[in-house]
Amino acid sequence: MYNMSFDYFIDSHCHIHDKDFFDPNIRNTLIQRALEKNIKKMILIGTDHEDSLAARDFANSQDKKHEILFWSYGVHPSEWKKNRPIPDFKTNKPIAIGEVGLDYHFFNDNDDIPAEKAGQKQLFTEMLCLAEKYDLPVIFHVREAFDDFFEIIHEHPSIRGVVHSFSDNKKNLKRILSETNFYVGVNGLSTYSTLPTPPIERILLETDAPFLAPVPFRGETNEPAYIYNIAEWLAKKLKLDLKDIQKITTKNAFELFSFDKK
Ligand SMILES: [Zn+2]
Repeated sequence: MYNMSFDYFIDSHCHIHDKDFFDPNIRNTLIQRALEKNIKKMILIGTDHEDSLAARDFANSQDKKHEILFWSYGVHPSEWKKNRPIPDFKTNKPIAIGEVGLDYHFFNDNDDIPAEKAGQKQLFTEMLCLAEKYDLPVIFHVREAFDDFFEIIHEHPSIRGVVHSFSDNKKNLKRILSETNFYVGVNGLSTYSTLPTPPIERILLETDAPFLAPVPFRGETNEPAYIYNIAEWLAKKLKLDLKDIQKITTKNAFELFSFDKK
């Protein structure tokens, strides 16, 4: 195992590189505030080709040694119509592929739903092949699409990953836990809803900043420092010490992501 004490938190999913949400001048402050709350690693999540490269460039510019900031490469299902160049990870490899998956939530009456679903599935499959090619874990975004998700994922048995921002029912949580070895991302959503809570051995903490700020910051802009509030909520919910929440969720993240491979 790892010769480590896991004595800090990890934000396994945030978007602080995104200029649409965070003024470039305050991004450094966000990192400082997170470090003060003992969140010592953050994964910047890509949502399309350009955004993934922005995550990479921000990580490289702020943290040359790659001890704090990591980035992922992915095309979000809602971006399936955008053209996507084949990424080249020869000189700079992401820590994961994501966020990728299926999202059937935002369809409206004008959409050609079979074509939308087919397009998303095609993109998702391409992203899984990319993960297989580079032997990378996957950060999944799945919304109202779990049946199709499981069907596709069972065709790729070597894939490992995390179902980010889980927001579905008990049945689908059970399916994740029993049919896959994926971790489940718990964030601020859980602090103000009645979502089922996965067992601690399968939880990764995440903020999804700027979205989904936890209680008591609900409705405000989320940031990595609030991992602390999510962890406090989880400690109460699972009747565990905050230290145990920290230790186990950080160990989980280390089992999924190769933080030490530069
Ligand atoms: Zn996200």
